[in-house]
Amino acid sequence: METENVVARLKSSGLFRTKGLIGGKWIDAYDGKTIEVYNPANGEVIASVPFMGEKETKDAISSAYDAFRDWSRLTAFDRSSRLRKWYNLLMEHKEELAQLITLEQGKPLNEAIGEVVYGASFIEFFAEEAKRVNGDILPSPMPDRRLFVLKQPVGVVGAITPWNFPLAMITRKVGPALACGCTVVIKPSELTPFSALAAAELAIQSGIPPGVLNVVMGDAPKIGNSLLESPQVRKITFTGSTAVGKKLMAGAAETVKKVSLELGGNAPFIIFDDADLEVAVKASLASKFLYTGQACICTNRILVQEGIYDKFMNAFSNAVKSLKVGNGFSEGVAQGPLINEAAIQKVESLVQDAISKGAKVVVGGKRHNLGLIFYEPTIISDVKNEMLIARQEIFGPVAPVIRFKTEEEAIQIANDTDAGLAAYLFTNNIQRSWRVSEALEYGIVGVNEGLHAYEVAPFGGFKQSGLGREGSKYGLDDFLEIKCICMGNMG
Ligand code: NAP
Repeated sequence: METENVVARLKSSGLFRTKGLIGGKWIDAYDGKTIEVYNPANGEVIASVPFMGEKETKDAISSAYDAFRDWSRLTAFDRSSRLRKWYNLLMEHKEELAQLITLEQGKPLNEAIGEVVYGASFIEFFAEEAKRVNGDILPSPMPDRRLFVLKQPVGVVGAITPWNFPLAMITRKVGPALACGCTVVIKPSELTPFSALAAAELAIQSGIPPGVLNVVMGDAPKIGNSLLESPQVRKITFTGSTAVGKKLMAGAAETVKKVSLELGGNAPFIIFDDADLEVAVKASLASKFLYTGQACICTNRILVQEGIYDKFMNAFSNAVKSLKVGNGFSEGVAQGPLINEAAIQKVESLVQDAISKGAKVVVGGKRHNLGLIFYEPTIISDVKNEMLIARQEIFGPVAPVIRFKTEEEAIQIANDTDAGLAAYLFTNNIQRSWRVSEALEYGIVGVNEGLHAYEVAPFGGFKQSGLGREGSKYGLDDFLEIKCICMGNMG
């Protein structure tokens, strides 16, 4: 489908917003600067958005700060019902939002619909959890005192999100923030701002007051620094690369803000000899090639035990060869383009490095003949854990396979990384499934399961994959302060 046709359809639905949102008003950059956003499937310009910086971010922070007073004083029931309306609107506009995601991010339309449903589920879940921000009463050591624990919203939140889930990474942060009574300044990726803006439009329609949710985009370091420097911003929640996450964590120290970080992964996918081959092949396909390999929980290394190695490689290769690559709007496409030229060049360099050190291409291994930024679904064998492809996050459709002999060796290889987000293991041995799950230094473990992310489950990493958890009842904690009140003269 042509970019122009999709944009025309989205414009008629009122969801195609191309300006920033500050204090309830759609705003251009103050100096008029704009930046073009491209459709990664064909390189066409979708539209331009404002290239904002320090001044606009400061105003967005002030709006959020002013709105905090009233928003945080609403009853939890009131906030809950507005979030519920937002959820309903997101679901009513599922098709248009999915088209917007495919247009700016490139993923196949059915995966984009999956992202809308996943993204909306956080708003629904936190609409419910808003009513469960419970405090506590503690036994007092003194007869005439009473001790109470109160949970209160932290205040203004700066939320910085990446391009790979342009809608769901927004809702996963904004849902719990708003539920607790916080207000937010969102900075979506300049590569994919339209889904965030459409979600903001629906938030306004659902009765979320002006200033509670603001969106700025443009100069990432300037916007990031303005959020970090402001004493009014009490929390930064970030999803993105580990390198940027470290900078934000360091920058937040000056004003001692709370920080939540959802960073990069290096997921091992371990297949033991006693695994169900069919289950492992199906899961490896989803875990590696869904989203063109561009998710933080995507498999980065496939570890296969020697007894099942040949059978697995045979079945896996056949399955990978059948994956259809193309424009996400085309019927039957399983894999879209990468996000941009830099992303495909990184994939190429990791593959070349591996080959130069003795790895072998089993399937694919080069740019797809569709041209542009499409890459062939690829399998590489004879990979060693010291190679760059096993140490860095590939973020592309390349499956490096490492052969191992023993369970101890598999655990050692799996944990030999600074990352610790998601890991997967395949076995029919119940003792082994527990033993290995407990030994893996990862925040998310799948047993005979290749991808799992649900609104009810905590999502986050060990080690350099991040701090804090999103989703689930634990996802509220990062947006709350705990206050202890001691009442005297009560005897
Ligand atoms: P990125 O380059 O770190 O960008 C993420 C966000 O940070 C974007 O909005 C970006 O803005 C912004 N940014 C860049 N430099 C900044 C700075 N100096 N100050 C403030 N903000 C700055 O990451 P990405 O390439 O978009 O996303 C891919 C990464 O995200 C991967 O490593 C992936 O594993 C990780 N990820 C993690 C999770 C998780 O839950 N753990 C989920 C999804 C993705 P611009 O784009 O406008 O430059």
